Amino acid sequence: MLPVTAFATAGPRVPFERTTIERRDLGPRDVLIAIAYAGICHSDIHTAREEWGATTFPLVPGHEIAGVVEAVGNEVTTYAVGDRVGVGCLVDSCGECRHCVAGNEQFCRSSIGTYGSTGRDGRPTAGGYSTHIVVTEAFVLRIPDALPLDVAAPLLCAGVTTYSPLRHWKVGPGSRVAVAGLGGLGHMGVKIAAAMGAEVTVLTRTDSKADDARAFGAAHVRATADGTAFRELRNGFDLILNTVSAELDLDRYVRMLDVDGAMVNVGLPENALSISLMSLVGNRRSLAGSPIGGIAETQEMLDFCAAHGLGSTIETISATEIDAAYERVVAGDVRYRFVIDTATIPA
Ligand code: NAP
Ligand code: ZN
Repeated sequence: MLPVTAFATAGPRVPFERTTIERRDLGPRDVLIAIAYAGICHSDIHTAREEWGATTFPLVPGHEIAGVVEAVGNEVTTYAVGDRVGVGCLVDSCGECRHCVAGNEQFCRSSIGTYGSTGRDGRPTAGGYSTHIVVTEAFVLRIPDALPLDVAAPLLCAGVTTYSPLRHWKVGPGSRVAVAGLGGLGHMGVKIAAAMGAEVTVLTRTDSKADDARAFGAAHVRATADGTAFRELRNGFDLILNTVSAELDLDRYVRMLDVDGAMVNVGLPENALSISLMSLVGNRRSLAGSPIGGIAETQEMLDFCAAHGLGSTIETISATEIDAAYERVVAGDVRYRFVIDTATIPA
């Protein structure tokens, strides 16, 4: 076993503390990664606060990991010491089911999450709020040289979770896309959809992020707080990408879809939402959801972002600031992703 330093929480709203965890010994196909940066995703917060159900504690979250290869097992062929790499939400899957064979590991019934899962060794998996991680090479991504590691880290979840549905729903020139919520996922959704050629509208609670939204590539920004946007934009979009972490009035959003439009939900609020089927039937609209993305698609997204010069817009924090960062994310006070600099984790 390889003891490494991490930041863990012992229960819902219990402050993060420095601790020592054990990574497995390097197997023949394993890669040991020295983590440089780990993004804070709102999913980390939902999990740590048990908003999605029971969580196993202590919990080391973090599934937006960027770092450098420190060692490789003797059968590893794709990575070498010194390579710049990333790890996202998954660290393993069965490799044999139709989803894995198709490169859609996110749908594998026995995929293993980067944290909060049980690893092949029977021990709980632990995420990126840590100095090192051991991952089988098939789940390691290559970070293109054009992307600095700090702004690349959030792409491993926020990037692929928005890229995947934008590709699946065939967004391109001529697409009228609305992105609801301008947080970690939302700001990447705007950057990626704009780079794909879509006409992007940001739906955000207030005007406070309007200048940023335009800088990210949005053609239009509409504040939703007073409700007028919902009336004025009725039947106006082909796709709405909902990244909001809290409950929404689905009917008001869905009615902004044109004929055959789809509202794709990636945000995962704590409580259930309801909708009137009247809102769907009229324009033959769809209400859909989408989870992260497969490994090949994650690499495709990283290469796409490098080619278009897209990184996340980040605020770097030290590991002792995780609790404060959680409060700020929940308060909507993040522009647009907190990234932990793991050099601040004391040995
Ligand atoms: P985030 O950075 O906190 O962004 C969420 C945004 O939602 C906020 O910036 C805010 O945008 C908006 N919002 C927050 N509270 C709201 C409220 N009460 N009413 C209306 N809008 C509100 O979170 P994130 O990391 O992007 O994650 C977003 C959601 O996606 C989370 O639920 C997360 O768990 C989920 N997620 C899902 C997947 C997946 O695979 N499907 C992957 C990763 C994350 P404005 O200030 O612009 O209004
Ligand atoms: Zn995430």
